[in-house]
Amino acid sequence: MEETYIFAGAGEVHFTKYAVYTDTIRHGDDVIQEGMKILHQVKGKSFGELAEEQKRYLDDFWEVSDIMIEGDQLVQEGIRFNLYHLLQSVGKDPASNIAAKGLSGEGYEGHYFWDTEIYIFPVFLMTHPEIAKNLLLHRYSILEHAKARALEMGHEKGALFPWRTIAGKESSAFFPAGTAQYHISADIAYSYIQYYLATKDEEFMKGYGAEVLFETARLWADTGHLHNGKYRIDNVTGPDEYTCIVNNNYYTNVMAKHNLLWAVKIYRLLSRTDADRLRALAGRLDLTETEVDNWQMAGESMYLPYDETLQINAQDDSFLQKAKWDLKNTPSDKFPLLLHYHPLTLYRYQVLKQADTVLAHFLLEDEQELGTIRNSYDYYEAITTHDSSLSSCVYSIMASKLGYTDKSYNYFNETARLDLDNTHGNTKDGLHMANMGGTWLAIVYGFAGLRLKENGLSFSPMLPAEWNLLEFQLRYQGRRLKFQKTREFTVYTVVSGDDLEIMHDGEMLLLEKGKDRIVR
Ligand code: BGC
Repeated sequence: MEETYIFAGAGEVHFTKYAVYTDTIRHGDDVIQEGMKILHQVKGKSFGELAEEQKRYLDDFWEVSDIMIEGDQLVQEGIRFNLYHLLQSVGKDPASNIAAKGLSGEGYEGHYFWDTEIYIFPVFLMTHPEIAKNLLLHRYSILEHAKARALEMGHEKGALFPWRTIAGKESSAFFPAGTAQYHISADIAYSYIQYYLATKDEEFMKGYGAEVLFETARLWADTGHLHNGKYRIDNVTGPDEYTCIVNNNYYTNVMAKHNLLWAVKIYRLLSRTDADRLRALAGRLDLTETEVDNWQMAGESMYLPYDETLQINAQDDSFLQKAKWDLKNTPSDKFPLLLHYHPLTLYRYQVLKQADTVLAHFLLEDEQELGTIRNSYDYYEAITTHDSSLSSCVYSIMASKLGYTDKSYNYFNETARLDLDNTHGNTKDGLHMANMGGTWLAIVYGFAGLRLKENGLSFSPMLPAEWNLLEFQLRYQGRRLKFQKTREFTVYTVVSGDDLEIMHDGEMLLLEKGKDRIVR
């Protein structure tokens, strides 16, 4: 910080204050000594030089991360505000993660949740994969805690990641909406798989990802059981915190299935490509072929609740039998419901705090027919309060997929300026980081229709009627791609890196490096 004072007779005097932070995790026990060392290094630079370095850092960030929108200045402001805060708050090394309220407030006491993997990680994965990698390394650094927690919770083996934590230990106070959200372990596994698909970094998979996939698969193998040929997971809580401790939450089961089958896939891949490394890892983890076969059986026979009459995936085994909450006649000053009703009351009704099955249909869309996904959307939308800020972006993305254009834009608008306009009335407690990631997701996965799967990248773009232009960049397997959508056409450009084949609205397109590929 630089300050200028004017002293009578002495003219201008400039003070430059240097602030240095150290902690025992990163710098060892002698934090003062280490702090002094860093201070000596930075003291060689003037305020101007440091400001210039900071500017370069931010210019680099914006060069790839900026999203340009023409036609709606307020939304443009919102998305830039959100991206800036995501960058500010995210850990830049494996020693930290990203807190649900960022660095901006005391809400949630700085704790990390699944918000990281499902709502924030994808933003960095597709724009600054080195930051995404640190988020994964942080989870890896707490794997031993997760294994200890699994034992503590009565499992024979496996890793149960804490629902909320700052140093690796479970810090949830209320287990029905905390520890019982076992899905966080599958969410973390999902992010390792997405990282692999986006980077093809096999070394990272061998060094870290495989172990996380194996240990989380073990958790599902130990938590679930086979009944009448179907693999069931009982007594867990899904993402929707207005329904707790249920059997066969669709979201949890389908994410666990993905986790189990990818653990098998990676195990078999490594046994073909790097048998020595796999042997060493399996030896260290005491992992047997029989266990891996069991994961395959569990994944393949996973029970995914489906209601024949409604033709939707049921949120869980008992959800659709409950009475429906009378949302129409609930006074507006009774929202969010959690502040006005006891959890036990809420648990007795069909009412959602946030996207649950609809989120599963986004993350694993190939698990169901489009018709089922549409029916589920229509059904759950009518009973969702969006009392959690993790909800609207998911409904926006899925509305884009289903062609509900007005809805996709309205839900997106709920996210874009949530903190700037304090629409939830609690920004004083901290920013809503997952929602901020959600704004990006609603644009890139929603309007542009990006999907990242084993067969590559696909887009299915549409432009909200209010906009004239949408432009952003992505990183993918060592390349930089530019996406532009105007009212007339979509343009894809490989800015750097090799040619690439992508899918656009179901058709394959070859993108040649440096050439704009225009689709009308
Ligand atoms: C949501 C959770 C979320 C947590 C932290 C809760 O209100 O229901 O899904 O992880 O906030 O953002």
